[in-house]
Amino acid sequence: MSERKVRVRFAPSPTGALHIGGVRTALYNYLFARQHGGDLIFRIEDTDSNRFVPGAEEYIIESFKWLGIKFDEGVSFGGEHGPYRQSERRDIYKKYVQQLLDNGKAYIAFDTPEELDAKRKEVANFQYDASTRMGMRNSLAMPKEEVDALIAAGKQYVVRFLIEPNEEVHVHDIIRGEVVVNSSVLDDKVLYKSADELPTYHLANIVDDHLMEVSHVIRGEEWLPSAPLHVLLYRAFGWEETMPEFAHLPLLLKPDGNGKLSKRDGDRLGFPVFPLEWHDPKTGDVSSGYRESGYLPEAVINFLALLGWNPGTNQEIMSLDELVQLFDLSHCSKAGAKFDFEKGKWFNHEYIKMKDNGELADLFMPVLQANGVEASKEVVTTVVGLMKERVSFVKELWDTCKFFFVAPTEYDEKTRKKRWKEDSAERMTELAQLLESLDDFSAENQEKVVMQWIADKEYHMGNVMNAFRLTLVGEGKGPHIFDITKVLGKEETLARIRRAVEVLK
Ligand code: GLU
Repeated sequence: MSERKVRVRFAPSPTGALHIGGVRTALYNYLFARQHGGDLIFRIEDTDSNRFVPGAEEYIIESFKWLGIKFDEGVSFGGEHGPYRQSERRDIYKKYVQQLLDNGKAYIAFDTPEELDAKRKEVANFQYDASTRMGMRNSLAMPKEEVDALIAAGKQYVVRFLIEPNEEVHVHDIIRGEVVVNSSVLDDKVLYKSADELPTYHLANIVDDHLMEVSHVIRGEEWLPSAPLHVLLYRAFGWEETMPEFAHLPLLLKPDGNGKLSKRDGDRLGFPVFPLEWHDPKTGDVSSGYRESGYLPEAVINFLALLGWNPGTNQEIMSLDELVQLFDLSHCSKAGAKFDFEKGKWFNHEYIKMKDNGELADLFMPVLQANGVEASKEVVTTVVGLMKERVSFVKELWDTCKFFFVAPTEYDEKTRKKRWKEDSAERMTELAQLLESLDDFSAENQEKVVMQWIADKEYHMGNVMNAFRLTLVGEGKGPHIFDITKVLGKEETLARIRRAVEVLK
């Protein structure tokens, strides 16, 4: 690798919600930048005004904020190489388009969309290139006076890249190795449109990578076909020396591995493909997001990091800091990565288990409030500590834990038939008296006293404890019984036992 300072960029076009594949691209850029003490730039590629979607830029920024991916420079972050929004860099691009024209590396073309369509109908596999350009309406085929006159008359035109045929173009890709393409398969790409005075993606992308001193271009595989053209553009500008290195990341595939992951797969199989919920401003459609679906950002990061890369060991759980240490761009796979969303759920489960009880309580409190429950942070922290192993999502905590906060009003019929015996009412009445007499209501003391009582009276331990659980929970589930009573406290525990006795017998 070269001695240059590592500078990478994530350069989305604000055309809608950020796809989860884009999130992975940004993550890999982030890991690579951090690992090399480099910079990560956030650039908005909005030169195609037809595809601009309001709110998309804000959505992307908020997504990364949620995920904890931090940028060093760029739109909303500032920096020395701005502006970072391409629509604000018109004058810069104009200068470079002119440079290509002046050096004979590009030319002006007047062919209208209708004329081009007609050509495509007339000639099978028509391509605007060395074999056809002299038959078209451009500055190479027309006299200079005519070209000048058309421009002076305000005719719309485009600037096309002049591609020399039959040349081998080599792209060195960190992941894919050497990719060689014959330039004859490339067409004379449009670099600039006079109509909106804006460059196309290709020109703006290359000029910005150069001016922003980007050292590595890490992006999705779908951009690999553009890479030879980009290499030729660097050459046309005379920037080969500082051309970034390329790394094209593998595609994200459908869960069954057949084809590219799409939003429809998410809808069909019930998982989000966007980091945050997205409200499409045009259609009004709402698409689910990882955040709103209850995923922890750490889990999403860990899950995505392993879609296309692995540390070469069996280690699966890795924090962002560990990923920074372990990540290796050159060991990314070439083959597409199956989007195994069940694995995503598994990661969330693991991260919920690892999460600090207090932080988890903060996430659970709003769910409790939405269900009309007022509880102290302390109690909620204890409860989630007892129950977090049993859930994959914060929202599942409600069903799993609600008996801590809401006394049972009904008793599960099946459990009752099985667990509530002839003598249960009597035993529970005794038990309530016993617990009432306790000054020390700690779990340990309750357990000691209750066990002693069962032993002294020679009661059937299982029968007593099962009935006890039914009075507290309303069914046969839940954690260790004295963990429950400790949280409930004496008064509530006694009330629940006595109420059950009344209802059940
Ligand atoms: N604007 C392109 C995108 O939306 C950027 C491609 C690149 O990284 O070169 O992904």
